[in-house]
Amino acid sequence: MDKENIDFSDVEKFLLTHYIKCPTHKRSVIYLRLDDEEDPQVIKCQKCLDEKKYKCFIDIIELLQSDNHFIFQKWPIHDDDSIYEKLEQIRQWPFAKYCQEINLLFDEIIEAIQSKRKSILKNLGLIEEITQKPLNFFKEICQKEKLIDIIKTQFGDQKKQNEMILNIIKQNQENYEKNKNLLIELINQANKNLFGLDKIQNIKEEVLSSIQKVNNFDDLQVIVDQSNNITIENYDQCFKKIKITKIEELNKYYDYQKIKIDFREQYLSFIDIYIISQSLNKFKKINEFSLRISGNTIYNENVCQIIKGLFKYQTLTKLKLKFGDTFNYIGSEGAKCIAQFIKQNNNLVKLHLNTKLKDIDQEGASSIADAIEACQNLNNLTLYFRINFNSAERFKKITRAIEKLQKLEILKLDCSSNYIGNEIAKVISNSLEKNINLKELDLNLDYSKIEDEGAFYIGDALTKLQNIQILKLSLSCNQIGVKGAQKIIKDLENNKKIQDLHINLSNSNEICKSVIVASLKQTYESFSQIKNLNIKCNQKKTCVVQNRIYLNKQLIKQINIFVFLITLNLLKIKEVLNIVIICILIYIIYISVCLICIKIYLSIQNSKHNNQFNDWRIYLQFEVSIYQSINCYLFISFYLFLQFYLPSNQYIYLTFYFYNFLIQK
Ligand SMILES: [Zn+2]
Repeated sequence: MDKENIDFSDVEKFLLTHYIKCPTHKRSVIYLRLDDEEDPQVIKCQKCLDEKKYKCFIDIIELLQSDNHFIFQKWPIHDDDSIYEKLEQIRQWPFAKYCQEINLLFDEIIEAIQSKRKSILKNLGLIEEITQKPLNFFKEICQKEKLIDIIKTQFGDQKKQNEMILNIIKQNQENYEKNKNLLIELINQANKNLFGLDKIQNIKEEVLSSIQKVNNFDDLQVIVDQSNNITIENYDQCFKKIKITKIEELNKYYDYQKIKIDFREQYLSFIDIYIISQSLNKFKKINEFSLRISGNTIYNENVCQIIKGLFKYQTLTKLKLKFGDTFNYIGSEGAKCIAQFIKQNNNLVKLHLNTKLKDIDQEGASSIADAIEACQNLNNLTLYFRINFNSAERFKKITRAIEKLQKLEILKLDCSSNYIGNEIAKVISNSLEKNINLKELDLNLDYSKIEDEGAFYIGDALTKLQNIQILKLSLSCNQIGVKGAQKIIKDLENNKKIQDLHINLSNSNEICKSVIVASLKQTYESFSQIKNLNIKCNQKKTCVVQNRIYLNKQLIKQINIFVFLITLNLLKIKEVLNIVIICILIYIIYISVCLICIKIYLSIQNSKHNNQFNDWRIYLQFEVSIYQSINCYLFISFYLFLQFYLPSNQYIYLTFYFYNFLIQK
C-alpha cells in the first residue's frame, strides 16, 4: 500500500473495507492500543478509548497520513505530555522562514553599507578636488617651469636672462598681496576638509562588535559533535558519572565525560602526578570533573602539572578540586594555574574549590577572584579558605567577585580559623547582602575572633537575603556575646522563606541558654515555615537538640528526646498523637520483652536450683521496668495535657523544662 498518496477519505475507505468493526461496540476502528502486551485485540474504536482511557495509543488515520516528522502524543512516551509539547515546538520551529528573514535582514544591512561606501568614496573625490586647488595655484604663481626654462636656455645671453627673471619678480611683486590672500584662503579651505582615518577605524570596531553581539553561536559546533556521539549504545557511557580510585584505572574510561577521581591518602609521587596529568589529556571530552587528592603533600608544581593535563577542556559545567590538607604547600603559583583553568571554562555552573592554599599573596587572591568573576553562570559555589588569609583586604577581592555572580543560588563559604576578627565578618557581610538570589547559604566562620560587632554585620546581611531557604551558620569559638547572638536570631525573624535552619553560635553556656530560649520562642511564633531546626552548642545540658540520636541505656530518655524533637519540628497535634501511640506500642513491646526475659531467667533458675522466686534481683529488675513505664505514661499524659489545655507557646517552654528535669534525674 502506498501511504503517501492516500488522502483522508481514502484512508477511511481503506479502514472500512479492510477491517471489521470493533467486536464490543460495533463501531469502525480508528485507534491502535499500544500499552498492553496481553490484550489480543489492539485495534480499537472511539468508544473503547473513551471508556478505558488507554495510556498509550495512536490514531490510525494520523499514522497513515503522517509525514516523516510527525509526533505522536501518546506513543512511545505516554506519561509526560511536556515531552510531546516540547518536540512539537521544536518541530514547528520555522527554519526556512528564519533563513529567509536573516537573508533579507543582512541584504538590507549590506545594501546600507554599500550605499554608505559609495557616498563616502564620492565625498573623498570631492575632498581631493578641494585639496588640489592650493597646490595647483601655488604651482601657477611660483612660475617654476618658466624659471627652469630660463636657466636651461638663456645661458648665452646674460642680459636677456636677467631681464626675463626680473620680469617674473616684478610680476610676483605686483600680484603679491592678492596671490598670498588667495593661497591662504585655498589652504584653509583644504585644511578644513582634511581628515584622518581614526574616526572610520572607530566605526569599524563598533560595527564589528555589534555584529558579534548578534546571537553568539560559538558553542554550536561542539554541541553538534557531542550530540552526534549520542547513540543508545554509548549513551550510558558518555553520560554516566564514573568514579576512579586507582591510577591504573584511568585509561579505561577515556570515553566518559563525567569524571570523578578520588586518590586521597594514596601518597602520590611526582611520577604518579605526571601519569595522572598525561591520562587526563587523553579523555575525549570532559564535562564534569572532580578531583580529590587530599591527604597527599601537594606543591605548586603538582597542581600546575595536573592543570596542564586538563587544559584542553574548555566546556566544563561542573568542577570540583579538592587538594585541601594540612600538609600542602600550594602558593600563589598554584593558585594562578587553577585560576587560569577556571577562567577558560567560564560556562561553569558549579564550582567547588578546596585548595587550602598556604599564605596566598595578593596576586594569588586576585587571580582566583578574577576567575570566579569570569564565570557568570555560576549557580553553585563552594570555597574553602581555612587558614588562608591573614588580612581581610585580601579576602575582599574574592567576596567582590562573589557579589557579582547574579545567578548564584547556593553558596558554601568556609573561612574558619583565619583569626581576622570583625573585619572579615564585615567584608563577607557587605558582599553577601548583594547576592539576593541566594537560596542556600552555608557560612563557616569558626575560630575567627569575631565579637558582637561582627555578629551585627552578619545579622544585617542575613536580613537582606529574603530568598534563603536553607541556612547553615557556624560561628563557634568566637568572642560573640549574648547581644550579638540575640541580634542574629532576631534578624532571622525577617527571613520568611527559611525551611531549614542550622545555627552554631557559641560555646558559652550563657549564650546557649538565652539563644535557645529566644529561638524556641521565635521558632514557634515567627518561623512557622521551618521544617528542620538544628541549634548546636557545645554544652550538653543546655543544647538539647545537638544529639539527635542518643545512645542512652535508658529507653525513657530516648522517647522523651524523640517527642521533644517532634515539638521542635512543629508537627501538627494529630501527627504527634500518632507518634505517642507508636511510643506506647514500643513500650508495650519493651515490657513484654522484659517479662519474657524474666520468664526465661526464671525457668533457667528453676532448672538449676529447682526453687522458684528465690533471687531478689529479679524482683528489682521487674520493678525498675514498671517504674520506667509509669514514668513514660506520666510524661505522655502530661504532654497531652499541655498539648490541649495550654496556649501554644507556653507548652514548648514547659516541655523544655520538663525534659531538662527528666534528664537531670
Ligand atoms: Zn470498541
